[in-house]
Amino acid sequence: VNGRSALVIGAGVVGLCAAHALASENWTTRVVDRDPEGDKTSLGNAGGLAVTEVAPASMPGTMWRAPFWLLDPLGPLFVRPRHMPRLVPWLWRFARAGRRAEVERIAAALASLNAASIPAWRDVLAVYGLSAQIAGEGALAVYGAEKGWRRDEFERALKQRHNVEVATLSGDEAREFEPALGPLVKQADYFPQWRYVGDPAAIVRGLRQGLVNRGVPIVKADATRVARRETGGVRVEVANGQQFEADVLVVAGGAWSGALAQDLGDRVLLESERGYNATVPDPGVMLRRQIIFPEGKFVATPLSVGLRIGGAAEFGGLEAPENLARVESFTTLARRFLPGLRLEGARRWSGHRPATPDSLPVIGPSRGAPEVVYAFGHGHLGLTQAAVTARLVAAFAAGRAPPLDPTPFSIERFRGAR
Ligand SMILES: Cc1cc2nc3c(=O)[nH]c(=O)nc-3n(C[C@H](O)[C@H](O)[C@H](O)COP(=O)(O)OP(=O)(O)OC[C@H]3O[C@@H](n4cnc5c(N)ncnc54)[C@H](O)[C@@H]3O)c2cc1C
Repeated sequence: VNGRSALVIGAGVVGLCAAHALASENWTTRVVDRDPEGDKTSLGNAGGLAVTEVAPASMPGTMWRAPFWLLDPLGPLFVRPRHMPRLVPWLWRFARAGRRAEVERIAAALASLNAASIPAWRDVLAVYGLSAQIAGEGALAVYGAEKGWRRDEFERALKQRHNVEVATLSGDEAREFEPALGPLVKQADYFPQWRYVGDPAAIVRGLRQGLVNRGVPIVKADATRVARRETGGVRVEVANGQQFEADVLVVAGGAWSGALAQDLGDRVLLESERGYNATVPDPGVMLRRQIIFPEGKFVATPLSVGLRIGGAAEFGGLEAPENLARVESFTTLARRFLPGLRLEGARRWSGHRPATPDSLPVIGPSRGAPEVVYAFGHGHLGLTQAAVTARLVAAFAAGRAPPLDPTPFSIERFRGAR
């Protein structure tokens, strides 16, 4: 025990990895979550350790293509009209993130995190007997039209500039790689550095159990207010009137983290980008690796629990009800690429991605309260980046220099945002 205490809000994959890192450095660590064992984004995601995804969501031209996506009934983007007014400041920043110089800066920052992601995960998983979870190797991005492949030329070159390996394949070569693909595939890119896991839910459950076993309590409590203590450290009030105190607080509340940051005087632009998927236990097709469908913006992952087909970006706020019918849009498209695909018994699911407008997570101290460390906003890459994020969190908590330049992830960047 190092004599100091840490409290982590959030038992998603980011919070659990942070708790692991702190407990490993002998902090007396506790985790609170309003529903520790319940469903959460970290359980049902696509399972990709998507280290080659260094391009932000906002790219040159994205704002021009977005209206077409909104109009296409099989398109990947949905905005609830009622949510639009609240979304405006976020969208404004999103548009600015798509300028070329910004894209380059963001890609460099994402690449720095992603490069350290898999080694960091291997270390964490080994501690909890979960090493076999990193099972799958490589991802194949397949295109139904050469035009679609050409449209991604800028993104491909961007990735290559940031040390992403990519091999371009013809449709026939792609079918040799993945015999389940049908004649629709005209062109493909193979990303050998990509990895994926057997089952993201098994990782979360394994970490949770493993932490409890090593004496890190995971308490069911809804944090309603966080504040600095006058005597140093932090106080967290929870819904039943109880209070928790700690020397260091880690805010890892996923898409719900904005309100907690606001309590501490930090402005952040964070939206729920709801994603959907279907997991098919007996899909009738065998995929050898994760398949990305860039034109429809969805992926298919051969998990140990079945074939998971998922995507979509729905902006409607945290309170809007889910619309599981969205799943049909990409399962319909997936069938065109995978003619043998059967969807009987599919289990549908949705989760809130914590999305910042610049596709960068928020990792680092609160502006006004250095004993609070933020770790949220990982968007599409929360599974990928959870373990490396935890390394940064542990460094900030201990007052050490982080293992990589944390400047791009600072909450400072939202200063003055409305
Ligand atoms: C369809 C889909 C596919 C995805 N695919 C991938 C992928 O292939 N690869 C990848 O890397 N990422 C993927 N992601 C993204 C990834 O799932 C998320 O970025 C990640 O799960 C976020 O983890 P988290 O721990 O920050 O949040 P969560 O898992 O949402 O956990 C946050 C926790 O904090 C708790 N909490 C929040 N506020 C409070 C409070 N005030 N008091 C108490 N508890 C609180 C919540 O109850 C919740 O349990 C995908 C997401 C979706 C939706």
